[in-house]
Amino acid sequence: MLPLYQPTLTDSYGRQIKDLRISITDRCNFRCVYCMPETGVQWKDKSEILSYEELTYLAETFVSLGVTKLRVTGGEPLLRRGVINFIRTLNSIPGVEDLALTTNAYFLPEYAERLSKAGLKRISISIDSLMPKAFELLTKVNALGRVLEGIEAAQKYNLTPVKVNMVVMRHINDNEVVDFARFAREKGLIARYIEYMPLDGPGEWNRDMVVSGKEIFEKINAKYPLKPLIANHKSETAKRFTFADGAGGEIGIIAPVTEPFCGACSRIRLTADGQIRTCLFSLSEHNLRDFLRSGASREQLRQFISTTVLKKELGHRINEPDFVAPERTMSCIGG
Ligand code: SAM
Ligand code: SF4
Repeated sequence: MLPLYQPTLTDSYGRQIKDLRISITDRCNFRCVYCMPETGVQWKDKSEILSYEELTYLAETFVSLGVTKLRVTGGEPLLRRGVINFIRTLNSIPGVEDLALTTNAYFLPEYAERLSKAGLKRISISIDSLMPKAFELLTKVNALGRVLEGIEAAQKYNLTPVKVNMVVMRHINDNEVVDFARFAREKGLIARYIEYMPLDGPGEWNRDMVVSGKEIFEKINAKYPLKPLIANHKSETAKRFTFADGAGGEIGIIAPVTEPFCGACSRIRLTADGQIRTCLFSLSEHNLRDFLRSGASREQLRQFISTTVLKKELGHRINEPDFVAPERTMSCIGG
């Protein structure tokens, strides 16, 4: 039986873990340059991937420990059959206060209505260019039109506020920073600019390719003066702004490389193959899947999770001279 009170999951630095990112697949139909290599990707065998029953059982266990926010991600989560039912199931877990999904939106025109009816609250959509050719170069798929349709469908079916994520890369798409802000104003979207992190598939990340949050802010602010939103939550990753002229939409700048926010991190990740990652940049993982499959009781799983959380790193070490990037790239970790 699940406990009747709501305990808290706390790491050894006193950070409360409230937010679980659940990756449901390592597969993807895109090959974004900052995330996946174009060829040679080895998918995990189906037997290694957690079933929906296992995922649900584990999600309930995390929630019983004090997690209140769930985000379903991947790979591309809408590629996995049964995702709508899974969202419905997650939404019915008592204690889940926020349920979100991150997607490349390729399948969203067909899925938005059903996701909304299943109880999905919010959605984040990756869109790194508003120009068809550049979009294709970045993702290796000619799909800008579908993604734009997906954004409209998300708005139509109230998966709001719709967040659109842009990973900003020097000499690749940084010329579109202001256009992206204009897009957010015109469509009433939350534009999220994300600094490029060393989690790319080809392993070509270098510091010169990172466009800092400060530079992004200055570019947007010069064209559309911004006003800070002071409602920022302590554990929120984005610095948020509205447009000073009162236009719709919002700007969020996420700067994990130049302005790390690890001190307020409330996140933990479960990979599609059932590994707990205590940090995006962890160099080791904790095999919850095998422990679950060995017949562990709910209480033993709770103990495993609580002990694992105590090993959460103080922070990522991107800016340290001896930084080593994790072996798994973002698509396998679950962003
Ligand atoms: N396929 C879905 C999508 O693209 O939205 C969900 C998974 S994707 C790994 C989740 C997020 O990770 C996306 O918003 C993507 O932009 C971000 N991401 C992937 N690689 C990144 C990197 N190297 N640096 C910063 N963000 C990255
Ligand atoms: Fe796929 Fe998302 Fe990674 Fe792009 S960012 S390759 S859509 S998992």
